[in-house]
Amino acid sequence: MNKIIIANWKMNPATEKEAEKLLRLTKKQLPILKDKTIVVCPPFPYLFLYKNFKSKKFLLGAQNVSTEEKGSYTGEVSPGMLSSLGASYVIIGHGECRARGENDSLINQKVLNLLKNDLIPVLCVGERDRDTEGSYLSFLEEQLKQSLNGLNKNQIKKIVIAYEPLWAIGGQAKREATKEEFTEIKIFIKKILSDMYDPNTASSVPVLFGGSVNSINARYYVSEGGADGLLVGRDSLDADKFEAIVRALD
Ligand code: PEP
Repeated sequence: MNKIIIANWKMNPATEKEAEKLLRLTKKQLPILKDKTIVVCPPFPYLFLYKNFKSKKFLLGAQNVSTEEKGSYTGEVSPGMLSSLGASYVIIGHGECRARGENDSLINQKVLNLLKNDLIPVLCVGERDRDTEGSYLSFLEEQLKQSLNGLNKNQIKKIVIAYEPLWAIGGQAKREATKEEFTEIKIFIKKILSDMYDPNTASSVPVLFGGSVNSINARYYVSEGGADGLLVGRDSLDADKFEAIVRALD
C-alpha cells in the first residue's frame, strides 16, 4: 500500500504571502516519490494558490467541508468548490473540530457528501485519554461506527482513517504515543471494519497515525508500528522539517 503523508497546516500561516512561500519551499524541497502520496492541506483561503504550484510532488487537501452540496449556508464550503480548486483529500472529524461541537452524526454527513463528490475523506478518530480499563476502545468503536454509518463496501474502500489520540496532538500534547499503542489501535480498527464489511475490504483501508510526528519518530510509527502513513501538524509548517519526515520514510 502506498504510504500517505498529510500536512495539516491548521489555521496557519497568518498571511497569503507566507502561505505562498511555504507552498513554494514545500514544492522545492520535497522529492518525487513513486511509492508515497503527499497531501498538503492549507486553510480554505489559501487553496487557490495551488494552481501556481501544481506538481507531481504533492496533492491538495482541505481541512473541512459542508454537509451540503449547494445553497444558502453562510460560512460553509461545498465539496464542489474544493474540487474546483484542485483538492482531492479532505480532513474530517479532526479533534479540534470535534472540540468546537462537531459530532459523529455531522461528521458522517460530511463523509457521505465528500464521497458523493469524488473527494477522499481523511476521517480522524481518537480518544481524549487512555484509561486503564480500556474504555477508550469502546469510545473509538462508537466514533468509527457512527462516522461510517451507511457507507457501502465500495465507499469504505475510498476512505482514509487517521488515528489521532488527542493526548498526543498539538502543542498541548501530554506525551508521544508508542508504536505499540498505535499498532493496537490499527488492529482494533481493522477488526471493526472487518466485522462491518469483510476482512478483504478492511485490509484495503489505510490507517494513518497523527500526533507529534517529527523526523525522528516518523519511521518508528511507519516501519515498526505499521502505520500506512502520517498526519503531520506542527512539523508541516516548516518545509525543512516536513521534507525530513518524508525522507525518513525512504
Ligand atoms: C494534528 O493536530 O492533526 C497533528 C497531527 O498535530 P501535531 O503534529 O502538531 O501533533
